[in-house]
Amino acid sequence: MNAPAQDTAVERTLVLVKPDGVARGLSGEVIRRIETKGYRVVALQLTTATPELLAQHYAEHEGKPFYQPLVDFMLSGPVVALVAEGERVIEGFRSLAGATDPTAAAPGTIRGDLGRDWGLAVQQNIVHGSDSAESAAREIGLWFPAS
Ligand code: UDP
Repeated sequence: MNAPAQDTAVERTLVLVKPDGVARGLSGEVIRRIETKGYRVVALQLTTATPELLAQHYAEHEGKPFYQPLVDFMLSGPVVALVAEGERVIEGFRSLAGATDPTAAAPGTIRGDLGRDWGLAVQQNIVHGSDSAESAAREIGLWFPAS
């Protein structure tokens, strides 16, 4: 990954296309929405998570009822991990993604247009996006340790 842009208003965020999104062939659609919004993809990899990585990535959710189903789901297949860059991209990608619950997510969003409830213990909602500058820095370091 190249050095971050000099403009301090430019942010980076970690996006994951979760196993449901990859399995359904939606990785390109997610990237298309990021790029057509005007953000830049500055790192990209197809990878499979490990329990250790997910324990760190989802540490804030440990102990919640959906935690283990979430970890199992995230281990069920490959994910696309990418870093998107742009002004206010952390908030901007969260807007593109839509609400956590794909049934309730607004049409026009990734989750609202492409996701639905499958009656499972975990919401299979296609994408993850960092929720703050602190989370983004931490998560980019986890998924792209060489950057
Ligand atoms: N999740 C779930 N049930 C819940 C809350 C969350 O299955 O009641 C899953 C869902 O896949 C979500 C992830 O856990 O994307 C992380 O939850 P978070 O609250 O961080 O939502 P996000 O930031 O992804 O919208």
